[in-house]
Amino acid sequence: MSEPQIFPVPQDWARRAYADENAYRKMYEASIDNPEGFWREHGQRIDWIKPYTKVKNVSYDKGDLHIRWFEDGTLNASANCIDRHLAHRADKVAIIWEGDEPTDDKKITYRELHEEVCKFANVLKAQGIKKGDRVTIYMPMIPEAAYAMLACARIGAVHSVVFGGFSPDSLAGRIEDCASNCVITADEGVRGGRKIPLKANTDKALEKCPDVKSVIVVKRTGGDVAMKDGRDVWYEEAKAKVGADCPPEEMNAEDPLFILYTSGSTGKPKGVMHTTGGYMVYTSMTHHYVFDYHDDDVYWCTADVGWVTGHSYILYGPLANGATTLMFEGVPTYPSPSRSWEVCDKHGVNIFYTAPTALRALMREGEGPVKKTSRKSLRLLGSVGEPINPEAWLWYYNVVGEGRCPIVDTWWQTETGGILISPLPGATALKPGSATLPFFGIKPVLVDNEGKELEGATQGNLCIADSWPGQMRTVYGDHQRFIDTYFSQFPGKYFTGDGCRRDEDGYYWITGRVDDVLNVSGHRMGTAEVESALVAHAKVAEAAVVGYPHDIKGQGIYAYVTLNVGEEPSEELRKELVQWVRSEIGPIASPDLIQWAPGLPKTRSGKIMRRILRKIAENDFSNLGDTSTLADPGVVNDLIDNRQNKS
Ligand code: ATP
Ligand code: MG
Repeated sequence: MSEPQIFPVPQDWARRAYADENAYRKMYEASIDNPEGFWREHGQRIDWIKPYTKVKNVSYDKGDLHIRWFEDGTLNASANCIDRHLAHRADKVAIIWEGDEPTDDKKITYRELHEEVCKFANVLKAQGIKKGDRVTIYMPMIPEAAYAMLACARIGAVHSVVFGGFSPDSLAGRIEDCASNCVITADEGVRGGRKIPLKANTDKALEKCPDVKSVIVVKRTGGDVAMKDGRDVWYEEAKAKVGADCPPEEMNAEDPLFILYTSGSTGKPKGVMHTTGGYMVYTSMTHHYVFDYHDDDVYWCTADVGWVTGHSYILYGPLANGATTLMFEGVPTYPSPSRSWEVCDKHGVNIFYTAPTALRALMREGEGPVKKTSRKSLRLLGSVGEPINPEAWLWYYNVVGEGRCPIVDTWWQTETGGILISPLPGATALKPGSATLPFFGIKPVLVDNEGKELEGATQGNLCIADSWPGQMRTVYGDHQRFIDTYFSQFPGKYFTGDGCRRDEDGYYWITGRVDDVLNVSGHRMGTAEVESALVAHAKVAEAAVVGYPHDIKGQGIYAYVTLNVGEEPSEELRKELVQWVRSEIGPIASPDLIQWAPGLPKTRSGKIMRRILRKIAENDFSNLGDTSTLADPGVVNDLIDNRQNKS
């Protein structure tokens, strides 16, 4: 493949950023040479009630697995996000809320946030919720979702946020899994002009969850909903009965802060558990350096609070840093595909953080909807969730950012709590499609299938050699699954499940999930490379490739291709695409079969579910696995109906 283009650090960025190349290198070396000393110093970036004396107590040994950071310190996460800013930033806007309709918005200062969170916390207490209880939050993207999360943190309850797009069954499963006794929801949500019956879904879910004793319902639309006597309360009514003072509960650094289920791209979601101290240190520090957040910046992460990105980079990281964080209720295509950029113009957004799936959807619509907005305020762009295809990267950089804004392609996982591999905008030259270099304290290693560490420019299974403060501590209620999933295949290391390539400059390129690796005539290939080649074709909007049994090659390459708006599938185009991939990567990567796909199966967080595509390619329709996290099950039926060479 052709050499990737390199984008050097702009001069003004190197000057103004918290870390330039030199500073990054020095700090990184210090963090690896002496993790204990490094984190002893940086742990102080948050406020402790009782300071820690111990920093790190970790063993990755299967027989004695434990991960503890700052274990004798005490603190409160909500106090770090709110109270500590009241002295200097009480009137600074903490949350800008942008509603589904462009006319609907609201600004909440740190002082107002304090009052709202205290009241919400008192409502929880009045419902009998106490430290250690699990509270399920099933909410639309409204400020009350943030208040509810911070209120749990304030009283030491453990929140489990379930994305508002999930079905009653999925909700019930997550309530049962963590034995939660309280649900916070809304009458209805609103997204892209459509209503989502959250309360009705909750009622249906709770038919299976008799242990839930209280349901707190926030009014969003005023829609008609049923209220069950003795169980359900309206938030507004409960709020009117409580005071605005609620001292934060003193929590140990290793007390749980939240449980969050992974997206389910590879199988049944895991209840990832994060604790308080290390998570707060790590999310605030990564937010500070990766987004180079300065005090007057307006920062927008487009994720939903139902995903870890929403936890770490809408809420905890930014608020711990006293940031102004934007929370968006709607979708990027409503009322028009210009919406994201209109919101940037309206609120003067400087830092914009989104997912490749959203970018590819917007790219399909062409440059017009972008170009009619100004985007003058934008200074930095970010990406997370999947490998970003170089084509999408360049579009983001040139069309959205007009060549002016660095892109931070941030690789991380629900399990990692925060960003592990990413450029720092003032320090790292960029290569489109590469997440570039590790954050402070992170030591990536690539190993072969036998666990042997590979040196230099190479490709393998991505592991992390040692712990960092934001790491998950266990799978809730199933510590054995934690050990088996992450610490067994490659003993002594954390295994990420992702494949990765390291180039001559030490840059990391995520090649996709290890389970999805293609093995064509003995050549192992990541899915990302082949997909990126397809997406680089002018007529292709999105592509997913999987392996399928092939008599001669062992595995053949099966490609699902979504065309740009206005393009028609044809036999000629099919041949052209095969030729195109041959010339972009080489004959070994030529797709054997191409299926036109009007849509691809994705998780509700927008990630392509290749395991389902693999089953379809294998003609194995009866055994699709856990499909409960699928955003649109209809897509799968269409793909099955149109399976190539159905036999
Ligand atoms: P499950 O673990 O349930 O299968 P999931 O892995 O999709 O679901 P998440 O924790 O939301 O759950 O996603 C983390 C994964 O997303 C990573 O392991 C990686 O595969 C992918 N990913 C995230 N960010 C990036 C990125 N910048 N570049 C490449 N891949 C990324
Ligand atoms: Mg995962």
